[in-house]
Order: sequence, then structure tokens, then C-alpha cells
Amino acid sequence: MNQENQERALHLLETVFGYPAFRGHQAEIVDHVSNGGDALVLMPTGGGKSLCYQIPALLRDGVGVVVSPLIALMQDQVDALEEVGVRAAFLNSTQTYEEANRIERLVRTGQIDLVYVAPERLMTERCLNLFQDSKIALFAIDEAHCVSQWGHDFRPEYIRLSVLHEQFPDVPRIALTATADPQTRAEIVHRLQLGDAAQFVSSFDRPNIRYQIVEKANGRKQLLDFITTEHTGDCGIVYCLSRKKVEETAEFLNENGIRALAYHAGMDHAKRAANQARFLREENIVMCATIAFGMGIDKPDVRFVCHLDLPKSIEGYYQETGRAGRDGGPASAWMAYGLQDVVLQRRMIDESEADETFKRVLGNKLDAMLGLCETLSCRRVRLLDYFGEQSGPCGNCDTCLIPPVSFDGTVPVQKLLSAVYRVDQRFAAGHVIEVLRGVETDRIKTWHHDSLSVFGIGADRSEHEWRAILRQMIALGLLTVDHEQYSSLKLTDAARPVLKGGQKVQLRQYQKPVKQKTPRASK
Ligand code: ADP
Ligand code: ZN
Repeated sequence: MNQENQERALHLLETVFGYPAFRGHQAEIVDHVSNGGDALVLMPTGGGKSLCYQIPALLRDGVGVVVSPLIALMQDQVDALEEVGVRAAFLNSTQTYEEANRIERLVRTGQIDLVYVAPERLMTERCLNLFQDSKIALFAIDEAHCVSQWGHDFRPEYIRLSVLHEQFPDVPRIALTATADPQTRAEIVHRLQLGDAAQFVSSFDRPNIRYQIVEKANGRKQLLDFITTEHTGDCGIVYCLSRKKVEETAEFLNENGIRALAYHAGMDHAKRAANQARFLREENIVMCATIAFGMGIDKPDVRFVCHLDLPKSIEGYYQETGRAGRDGGPASAWMAYGLQDVVLQRRMIDESEADETFKRVLGNKLDAMLGLCETLSCRRVRLLDYFGEQSGPCGNCDTCLIPPVSFDGTVPVQKLLSAVYRVDQRFAAGHVIEVLRGVETDRIKTWHHDSLSVFGIGADRSEHEWRAILRQMIALGLLTVDHEQYSSLKLTDAARPVLKGGQKVQLRQYQKPVKQKTPRASK
């Protein structure tokens, strides 16, 4: 683009949006799209994706069409634009026929700069005809990863967005997403026919976030210790899997002197909205929530994000932890995770309605998440690697600050595998560990497991240690839990070479779940 256009872009940035300079790849992207080029933009949440299509839409003739699945956010986005004097509107199922008619007229007569549409709306003949009859500046496809069938946000209507390319070959398209591993990226390019699009990939690193993942003992107590030692008086979010746990955790924090609110989809709408508003407005407040909370939440001073339950995937973990430290100041991502998390997540996949292929995808995503939890090296390296980005040890995560001790776990792993085998793969974790530790319970006597060769061969380790070993074995895929059969442990094919002695297993040393003593990030 020529100098003059670049100056116009910068002028808009300053006068309309009130920012002195573009960030990261923004200037290049604005340049490219304003010039009529297609683009695929990968930028982490909070990176500033919106300006990448808003400014080109203003620079080019006609209306910018923004496709977004997040109907709930459209009103806010439009309000924010109108506040700075940009003529914006949306078309979705929440508005009346008359209102939609009015917006359509504005689009047709070019009296509007940006219009947000839900994908299902865009795909209607009426809407496509409208855009054919209008001057369109560009199509922005937000949350482009929704096109991926293997992603957790798959929207079937997104697949059909390739019609944009066919019906509007001269209108530039910009697809944007915050979550795309290389596989998903390839799928976006393929499905949206963006083969010729320029790709702008920002770093996903959030250097001001310190990652910490601890062994779960009593999760809530550990959470309290973490907040009181590292984040007294700070704002934070605590994610829990279930609604019940959200409420219990909020109550527990309040009882212990930490102001906490709850947020989950089971609460009535007014209460939920009120809590969200309080969280956004107030200082020194903690939001306990299910993952229903957070979409579009832009509170810059969230100092910590905690997980009391294991997320299903690294994408989810990254997105949730990414709500910490948006202002660039030091922030923490803290998680407590244990054997039960692994068992539960595997079970949720097994029991889901998904077909086998999709279950395998979910299983792979969970494996990657477990790999991050169990890693012996830098968490950030692992996290960024998942998004296809190479980096070196960060010095700002728990494994960098206090390197975990690893040990050759082959022998205890073999002992545990043997015990599972000797009890005919018909017993759950608790029983197998009791057999190993030589505990004479009634059940062990009933089944004569005290006469097995493996009885008591693991007496040198505590129950906690065995649970930590078992958890890692499940994470490594050496054992599975059969939920159809009393949660009994079963050997996998991967266990064979270990059991036979050909393959060694490196494990993370179990450390007593004491208070987190990682040094506090400097302010
Ligand atoms: P994303 O959609 O990538 O999550 P947004 O477009 O919502 O991010 O932008 C996140 C925040 O960063 C917003 O508050 C936005 O106003 C701000 N922002 C974006 N670009 C700039 C910039 N060049 N300078 C300063 N602030 C910016
Ligand atoms: Zn690190």
C-alpha cells in the first residue's frame, strides 16, 4: 500500500480509536487487507484482532461484513464502535423483523461502516442477496477455528462460508482466530479457500504470565494458600468443572476472607449478569466460574487465573489462562491437578456421544494437556510448541524456577503393571495400591490377594507416591481405566514393552504438596 494509505490508517487509529501506534502485526495486516488482499490472522486473545478488520473496513469503500458466532457479544461490539463514532450494526436472530429491515436498508444504501452477522444468518438467501446488491468493503471471519471439525467449537455453518469466495471473488476476506494449532490452521485455509491468503502469525507467548501446575491434594486449601501467599487483594478467576463446585469454592473463599463471586450457566440470568458486572467493576474480587465465563471478558487487571480441575485441551487452558495479565503486568496461571482429573476426563470422553474418530481427537487433545502437566521441562516451551512455535526455557514457570526432580521409574512402574495384571485387571486404583503396599484389608483377604507374589512389593512407597506414579502412567497411556467395569485398571498395548523390560520410564518425583514457594513475580 502506498504511503498515503498508511497515513490514513494511522490517522484513523489515532483519531477514531485513540491509540498512538499499531501493535504487533496490525499495521501489516491493515495494509494488506486495505489493499484488497486476503489474510489469515492468528493472534492470541487480547492481541488486538478487531482493529485488523475495522480499520480496513473504514478505509475501503462499502460496508465491512463481520461474521461472528458470538451473538451475545454483538451488541457490546456495536456499542463500542458507535461510541467512537463508527456506524455499526448487527443482524441476528435476537432482533425484530422491523429492526433487521432497517439495518438491511442501511447496508444497501451504504450508510453504515460495519455490520456483524451470525453465520447462519449470512447463509440465508435473503442475506446473500442483500450483500450482492450492496457495496462490500471486506468480509471478516471471526473465530475462524469454528470451521474445524476437530476443534471444540465446531460450527457446521462455518463450512459453508466458502461461498463467500465463490460469490464475491473480488471482496477481500480476512479470517481471524486465537486458537489454531498447525492442523487447524491448515483446515481453515482449506475449508475457507484461503490458499492464496497471506498468513500473519503472532507469537502466542504471554511472557508476563507465570505458569504453575501443582499436584492436587486438597485443591481448595491449596488454592487458598496460593491466593493468600501470592495474590492477596488481587483480582482473579478460578475455574471449576461443575456448577456445584463453583458455588462451593466461592463459599469457601468467602468464609476464608477472600471476596468471591460465582458464575455458571445454571444461575438465573440476572444474578449471573450482576456478578459479571461486579467482577468487571470492582477491585479485590475473585470470580469462581465454569468455562461459561470469560468469552469477551476484557478486564485488564486480572492478576491470576486458577484451575481446580483439568481443562480438556491446551487450547482451552491457553484461552482461560490468557485472561490473566492483559495489562502486561505480572500475572499467574495456577492449576492443581491429580489422578481423579485424569480419570474423570478420560471417562467424559468415553461416555460422550462422539463417534470413534472424534473420541480419538478428544483423547489426543487430552494427552497433550496431560503432557503439559507432567512435563519435566519448561511449561512455556511445551505450550508454545503445541501452537507450532519454537522457544527456549522461559525462566518464569514453575519447572524453570524449581526444576522438578525426575527419576528412573521403570521398576515401580513394572511393579504396578504386574499388580494390575495379577489381580486380573479387575480392580480399581485404590485396591491395586493396597495390594502393592501390603495392606491386609477385608477385600484383599476375600480375594486372597495377600498370597499374590506382588503383595507388599511396594511397601517402600506411600499411598500418595503410588497415586502420583499411577497418574503419570495413565497420562502416559500405559494404563486405562475401564468405566464400564468398576473403574478397574487395564493394561494397554504400550505397557507390554515396559513390562517385558525393554523400555525405561522416566517419572517426575512426587513432591509433598506443601505451600507453593515459587518466588513472587516482581512488580
Ligand atoms: P482480540 O479480539 O484479539 O482478543 P481486541 O481486538 O478485543 O483483541 O483487542 C484487545 C484490547 O487491546 C482492546 O481493549 C483494544 O482496544 C486494545 N488494542 C488493540 N489494538 C491496540 C493498539 N494498537 N494499541 C493499544 N491498544 C490496542
Ligand atoms: Zn519455563
